[in-house]
Amino acid sequence: MTRRRLTILGATGSVGTSTLDLVSAESDRFEIDTLTANRDVEGLARLAITHKALHAVVADEACYDALKVALSGHDITVAAGRAALCEAATRPVDMVVAAIVGVAGLAPALAAARTQPMVALANKESLVCAGSLFMRDVGENATVLVPVDSEHSALLQALGGPAIGGAPDLTHVSKLVITASGGPFRTLSAGELARVTPQQALAHPVWSMGSKISIDSASLMNKALELIEAKYLFGIDSARLDVLVHPQSIIHGLVHYRDGSVVAQMANPDMKVPIALALAWPQRMDAQVDPLDLAALGSLTFEQPDRRRFPALGLARQLLEADGGCSAVVNGANELAVDRFLAGAIGFTDIVAICEATLDSMAGGPLGDPQSLDDAMALDAEARRKAGELAARPARSMFAG
Ligand code: NAD
Ligand code: MG
Repeated sequence: MTRRRLTILGATGSVGTSTLDLVSAESDRFEIDTLTANRDVEGLARLAITHKALHAVVADEACYDALKVALSGHDITVAAGRAALCEAATRPVDMVVAAIVGVAGLAPALAAARTQPMVALANKESLVCAGSLFMRDVGENATVLVPVDSEHSALLQALGGPAIGGAPDLTHVSKLVITASGGPFRTLSAGELARVTPQQALAHPVWSMGSKISIDSASLMNKALELIEAKYLFGIDSARLDVLVHPQSIIHGLVHYRDGSVVAQMANPDMKVPIALALAWPQRMDAQVDPLDLAALGSLTFEQPDRRRFPALGLARQLLEADGGCSAVVNGANELAVDRFLAGAIGFTDIVAICEATLDSMAGGPLGDPQSLDDAMALDAEARRKAGELAARPARSMFAG
């Protein structure tokens, strides 16, 4: 493989730092162009120096001076602000790793999809908020798009590639299945779910991740977002998409073929596995993960998800059939509700209830598919406004019971 030059958007996060760990272990194969962060100046400066980045960008303009000071004496250019972030995403490199969390990652990921030869996409919210637009731009630019989400990485492998850009051939596929660990609350009753705390929700039994996706995993909203992500990535209809609960998280995705064969991908639950595949695509590299020892595990178990206790999955079914704008609305409402839950302002089960109520209040007329970044961001802003109003009402009287 020729040496690959990378830009990592969201370098200080969970996916970003795992990516940099892999890159530094194979420094003959990779070099860093740009690293970005939101406002973690200290973390960004440290990573930029360690990994010999050429450029460092903070999204928050107020952090510019601090970053400049932190990198003084180093040959690293410094920039700040949302425009600088999008500019960084389009500076010519071999691959952009899109690992910002939330809809904040959409503009730079879209900018990368329109201009770069390869994008490794962790930011699933880009596809949830503007899936048609994103995939259209990927197609027009002939971008090689490699998913970093473990389930979608699994499906890509079980489908036998090629990387997304050209639509995969699904003629003989009867079903694509993504697995869910079930999160920390898989066995709790509906009543117990209403009382869980942010600390309990942040403690995922299997995966170690950033806080937003940890809460999404606990509510199964992460699986809802992933179903929508799969719809756009693979261009598959809702009837052929499904979720299977698999608490050990060893199998990540399964492709059911028409002849009865099922091809599944297995790996220890460590994000370094799908990140390594994306970084080396279409080759492979060492992901520095323990070998999978099935005999030591002994057994793998599976169960149907409980849509009654985890209504995010029912909402996902609705969204898979609806206009793309509905997914953007639910994503915006969810981001706001997760923030409010982490701040202790609403209960855990209020998160999905607020998403449903926001969608109901905005889905009077057809929302359409966002045709531009502005369309998607306008829906996001309106959803946040509406969800903010709902979250401010006394949670118990609004949503409980
Ligand atoms: P994280 O919270 O650990 O890191 C997020 C990164 O984005 C940080 O570098 C942060 O500085 C940056 N950021 C946050 N808000 C920003 C803003 N407004 N503007 C610009 N930059 C901003 O998140 P993570 O867990 O690494 O997840 C990143 C993405 O990858 C998410 O979309 C998530 O759904 C997806 N993903 C994560 C995992 C995982 O295991 N962590 C697995 C699959 C998919
Ligand atoms: Mg996932």
